[in-house]
Amino acid sequence: MCIFCKIARREERAYVIYENEKAMAFLDINPLSKGHTLVIPKEHYENVLEVPSDVIKDVFEAIKVVCEKLRVFNPDGFNVVSNVGKQAGQVIMHAHIHVIPRYRDEGENPIKFGKPIEIDLEEVYKALV
Ligand code: 5GP
Ligand code: ZN
Repeated sequence: MCIFCKIARREERAYVIYENEKAMAFLDINPLSKGHTLVIPKEHYENVLEVPSDVIKDVFEAIKVVCEKLRVFNPDGFNVVSNVGKQAGQVIMHAHIHVIPRYRDEGENPIKFGKPIEIDLEEVYKALV
């Protein structure tokens, strides 16, 4: 069983700050900022794209509650992000969404998506519609 499944079943310790019927929120063990939280479906799905709508509803409700709770630290913004697949940086193969409070005094926001590429948008658009 994966580590996040164990946390969901309370078989592994974590600082759980909120839960509802189908989702749970706990502090990331290696926080990128004060309050960095992970929100997971209690059931195992490999990544967020696999999570059914009724479950993702609870996950997003939990994210909103978590952001409200994190306001106690006076953040200036949040990154709400999920890595899907190894190439995107996913290490734990149980769906999770990072909620990372951001603070002005952190300096530059470390979550960047790299430099924009040069590409013909019309060509991309035509391939997609
Ligand atoms: P990923 O790179 O898969 O999007 O993020 C996985 C996150 O899970 C990392 O930020 C990592 O610090 C966190 N993490 C990994 N193992 C544990 C654990 O056992 N407990 C907690 N609370 N967080 C974990
Ligand atoms: Zn799992």
